[in-house]
Parts: sequence; C-alpha cells; structure tokens
Amino acid sequence: MVMTPPVREPWMDAAACARPEVDPDWWFATEAKDGHLLAMGYCNACDVQPTCLGYVLDHLDLTDGIWAGFTIRQIGKMRRKKCNQ
Ligand code: SF4
Repeated sequence: MVMTPPVREPWMDAAACARPEVDPDWWFATEAKDGHLLAMGYCNACDVQPTCLGYVLDHLDLTDGIWAGFTIRQIGKMRRKKCNQ
C-alpha cells in the first residue's frame, strides 16, 4: 500500500514517513503491530508532527493508518473531543 494523502501539501516533503528508507506499509499495516511501532517511532521524531496532527484532525476522510504517532482510533477520539468543545 502506498501512503497517498488526498491532497499533497508542502509540509509533507519534510515528513519522516516520506524518507526513502521507510516502508509506507508500517503506517497502514493492520496485522503487523511491529510495523505500527516502527511508524510511531518515526512520527515521534518527525519535524512536522504537530502539522500532521492538525491535518488528520481536519480530514475526516482519512480513516486508516497511523498519523502523527496515533492510531486512527485515537484520532477519532480526538476528533470527537474537538467537536464537543
Ligand atoms: S508525524 Fe508521522 S504520519 Fe505525520 S508526517 Fe510525520 S512521520 Fe508522517
């Protein structure tokens, strides 16, 4: 699977997940928790993590994968909390 966001934005060029040495499947592996852990490690060290988090919170069409170091389930909880404020 290729990590293809709906809209390519300039900050994505600095994303740790866009580095050539990473496997995009780590962000979307549904069975491989090891992949998710690797992805989360990259996210936690990513220069654009705060921007990425804001992006995924605003894009309800993103329903899969690891974003900004969180599972999409965790993102869903954040979205609901944001809507209730
Ligand atoms: S925080 Fe994670 S998902 Fe977001 S751009 Fe960085 S590496 Fe990619």
